[in-house]
Amino acid sequence: MTTVGILGGGQLARMLALSGAPLGLRFLVLDSTPDACAAQFAPLLQADYRDQDALASFADQVDVATFDFENVPAESARWLAERVPVFPSPRALAVAQDRLAEKTLFRELGIPVPEFADIASRQAMDEALQRIGTPCILKTRRLGYDGKGQFRIKSPDDADAAWAALGSQADTVGLILEGFVAFQRELSVLAVRGRDGELRAWPLTENWHESGILSASLAPAAVDAALQAQALATARKVAEALDYVGVFALELFLRDGVLLANEMAPRVHNSGHWTIEGAETSQFQNHLRAVLGLPLGDTRAIGHSVMLNWIGEMPSLLPVLAEASGHWHDYGKSPREGRKVGHATLRADTREALADALERTGRALGRDAQVAPAVARLREPG
Ligand code: AMP
Repeated sequence: MTTVGILGGGQLARMLALSGAPLGLRFLVLDSTPDACAAQFAPLLQADYRDQDALASFADQVDVATFDFENVPAESARWLAERVPVFPSPRALAVAQDRLAEKTLFRELGIPVPEFADIASRQAMDEALQRIGTPCILKTRRLGYDGKGQFRIKSPDDADAAWAALGSQADTVGLILEGFVAFQRELSVLAVRGRDGELRAWPLTENWHESGILSASLAPAAVDAALQAQALATARKVAEALDYVGVFALELFLRDGVLLANEMAPRVHNSGHWTIEGAETSQFQNHLRAVLGLPLGDTRAIGHSVMLNWIGEMPSLLPVLAEASGHWHDYGKSPREGRKVGHATLRADTREALADALERTGRALGRDAQVAPAVARLREPG
């Protein structure tokens, strides 16, 4: 019996456990909160990620360890890796935890990135503002997610407000200033790399955000083969540079035909949830296969899929279940503003059929605005 240890017990760990059950896997989840939603399906070791006794007990009970949460302290990952195989490696985790380190790596690899600068002081910010110009975004280097830890600087007049909001974090989690990219689309590439170095990528996904949180994803994205190839080459460069094992996502901005890399998630990713029903092999199943050294599954899409995120509270499931290929995912969390509590995926064989299903569902749920961008994209000619 193989046991996979997961650091972090949120919905990603929950979906990993659900996907690993048919492979006969057992799971153990380490999380600091008693109500971690993965604990509804896997035993929970409730402890702080820095608790060495808990980490030792975790290492004793698992055959391999992986992450649901990318902000597990890198030292804890390193400590564990001396006792049990950990994938992705602590080094890959450390790079992906730090916006400055990951953008520096992308640039070294020749991958286009937004302009950026390390901000260690107010003076450094003022100099970077001169060089990069406005609009731009001040972000924390570490521990930011879903648009948190970010301040948009629209004009030089906003500099004081930006520093008042985030300046105190320059000495703790660090800060980075990024040029604002006037992108035409937001895309992500999800890929998986096996322990033997084999790499597979799912088709590019187009994403729409609301207040910095993913709202909807459409896959395959309506892009030409050249862009798809560019995304795959980018994913391969990053994965090989980090000797990465497992699933990862690169969030990309498409501007004037060029893909700029925004950030890397060293784990299964929200923009890949559509793969559960919309691809031959899901990101969750392939992540487990990768970390266990098993053969990777085909990443081909089956038809067209749209994933809708449920933020704050779950809507009624009936309109989604009424669709021929509507799939419901309730994470078993209590409602809270800004919290990802579930998602739905609609799948269809053609773009037209998916647009119709999506429009019907949006109307029935009173969420026309959430579905509108994907419906419009699906109805575009070509
Ligand atoms: P992030 O946490 O970096 O993924 O940012 C959350 C969202 O904010 C992104 O998905 C974009 O919609 C937006 N965003 C972040 N950075 C930039 C940027 N440099 N230019 C334009 N939009 C951005």
